[in-house]
Amino acid sequence: MAGDERLREYRRKRDFGRTREPSGRRDTPGPEPRFVVQIHDARRMHFDFRLQVGDVLKSWSVPKGPSADPHDKRLAVPTEDHPLEYEDFEGVIPKGEYGGGTVIVWDRGTYEPLSHDRRGRPVGFAESLEHGHATFRLRGSKLRGEYALTRFRDGRDGAEEEAWLLVRKAGGGPAGGHSTPDPRRARSVRTGRTLAQVAAEGGEE
Ligand code: MN
Repeated sequence: MAGDERLREYRRKRDFGRTREPSGRRDTPGPEPRFVVQIHDARRMHFDFRLQVGDVLKSWSVPKGPSADPHDKRLAVPTEDHPLEYEDFEGVIPKGEYGGGTVIVWDRGTYEPLSHDRRGRPVGFAESLEHGHATFRLRGSKLRGEYALTRFRDGRDGAEEEAWLLVRKAGGGPAGGHSTPDPRRARSVRTGRTLAQVAAEGGEE
């Protein structure tokens, strides 16, 4: 599916005359796939975890954020695909707009897909996500090492929403000291600002 088709839901939810979020019309994928973790002070504080797959960012809302401790299983609820340009987005989404609230870029970098089948053969990353289990090595400023995303509820019966777990793999390399980020104290890896600073500046840089 082309990015334009995949971004239909993203664009339907937003009025680009009102929000400064990108419409995703200028995306060009780079040689290495990217990831970004944003902190989003919306109706409920959460982290948004996004992995580039092809020409979009596959996205999950992670209420507690990623943990560097392999014992922490973090709930991750899928959200609509976002444009690649979204990894730069930091600012204030106007009240009343979809996702209204303040966003900072907490961490970002590249990742290495590591998914294999039962015989140890590499599997395409998009395919592994479709099958509900993907492993990857993050190379960010804060997050480093191997992580896995695993779907544990497909949400197909409509009673409960689709849900995944984001877990750091034991022995997956050095963790860094960011096991449980406090979203209100955390600083943007882009601009060094906190959520409060971005909110006070109205999102202007
Ligand atoms: Mn969000």
